[in-house]
Amino acid sequence: TAAARAVDARKTYGTGEAAVHALAGVTVDFPQHAYTAIMGPSGSGKSTLMQCVAGLDRLTSGSAYIGETDISTLSKTELTLLRRDRLGFIFQQYNLIPSLTARENILLPLTLAGEKPDEAWLDEVVGTVGMADRLGNLPSQLSGGQQQRVAVARALVPRPDIVFADEPTGALDSRTGIEILTFMRRAVDETGQTIVMVTHDPHAASYADQVLFLADGQIVDRMANPTADRVL
Ligand code: ADP
Ligand code: ADP
Repeated sequence: TAAARAVDARKTYGTGEAAVHALAGVTVDFPQHAYTAIMGPSGSGKSTLMQCVAGLDRLTSGSAYIGETDISTLSKTELTLLRRDRLGFIFQQYNLIPSLTARENILLPLTLAGEKPDEAWLDEVVGTVGMADRLGNLPSQLSGGQQQRVAVARALVPRPDIVFADEPTGALDSRTGIEILTFMRRAVDETGQTIVMVTHDPHAASYADQVLFLADGQIVDRMANPTADRVL
């Protein structure tokens, strides 16, 4: 089965004359252990699709699945728990806690869930994102690219079923962006992670196994990218 799925997903903001159909009937699979990029012009519904599949927002109609679970049937509390236990998030803004060290930020999702880290796995992820010697630093002592690496590690360390990333390289210069994309690609190839990434950047999308193109709230094209694993 797919890691996540949308079935005739519709999302309307506002009503009457002012209604905006951000999603106008999207059906799509996000395969397991694959890296999917969602592309399309500004306002085409990319963020809305991601937010509704990731349980950060509700569809107006249709269904969104995480694994076998139809999340439109879940209560707010159940959704929060599902996000905490099964999903990871990377945003354009790194959203690190300024008073916590890199290590504490990376471990925060586990800490909040009352879980102990698997230190060997933590070392592996931190090594993969190249932050092993910076774990004691506060966010203010790190560059933007380093802060985003911390955010990538924070998303991967709890071994979520799926990592959702919304313009993860949007705030970074292109060289640093390539590093982050390389780490995310490695997470798919080496750990079998599933990633869903929103981007308007064709270069960022070239790291994905599957690229979906949205326009006016609908999927207008999709492309398999058999060369994704050769980007490295
Ligand atoms: P994208 O991520 O492709 O830029 P969005 O999903 O952010 O597109 O937005 C799709 C459409 O829905 C746009 O027309 C946008 O203005 C509108 N929209 C998104 N979020 C809201 C909201 N909270 N309230 C009203 N309109 C929204
Ligand atoms: P992105 O570039 O990722 O599409 P946006 O800048 O479009 O992000 O939107 C950022 C946030 O603002 C999203 O959570 C979206 O739901 C909300 N948003 C987008 N468009 C509108 C709008 N017209 N009115 C209210 N909120 C909006």
